[in-house]
Parts: sequence; structure tokens; C-alpha cells
Amino acid sequence: MKTTKMEANLHCVNCEKETLHEVMYIGENIERITCTECNAYVKIDEKMVISAIGADIVSRVTSKPERMSNEIKENLSKFLKSMPKRVVTKPYRIIKELKDIKDRTCDKNSKNSS
Ligand SMILES: [Zn+2]
Repeated sequence: MKTTKMEANLHCVNCEKETLHEVMYIGENIERITCTECNAYVKIDEKMVISAIGADIVSRVTSKPERMSNEIKENLSKFLKSMPKRVVTKPYRIIKELKDIKDRTCDKNSKNSS
């Protein structure tokens, strides 16, 4: 499945202001929207979008990633504003860092014999 990344200024519920967001599409569907400032992201569940902004907008927002119009951007912003905070997930950067450290340690100590 083809992954497309786009950038758009959208409202971040975590930053509580408009920030640059990375919109990731898988195929023709939005997979997630990530705030580039705080790294909070919203995973897009189509049902959630429909309940938040209406089915009509969904089909427009989630199709044709190459042509994200201002209307779509506005709707996405509206959608993000309507998001309850609990659905915005902060990635666990620490876990990744620990994993990186672990990988490095594993390289060094792959054998604990001398
Ligand atoms: Zn943010």
C-alpha cells in the first residue's frame, strides 16, 4: 500500500494552537495526523471522523491526497478541534530511545564470553 505524506497547518488539541501537521495517507485514506511540534497524533478511524464532522466531508477529506484543498484543510482543522483530548496519543519517545540503547548494547555484548 502506497504511503503519502503531506503537511498542513491544523489545529493541535495538545498545543492548543495551529501548528504544522504531518498528514499520513495509506493508499487513499488518512492513517494519522501528527503535530510536528509536540508529536501528538490522531489515528484516523473513519467512524470517528463521520461522527465528528459528517460522512460527506469524510469522503472528500480521505480521498485524493495529492489535492488537499483549502476546504479539506479547514475541515480537517475542524475535525481536530472536535477531537476529545483522550484520542490524541503521545508517542512514547522514551521507549524508542531505550530500544536504541538496547540495540547498541546488544551489538557490543552479543557474546558475554571473553
Ligand atoms: Zn501539538
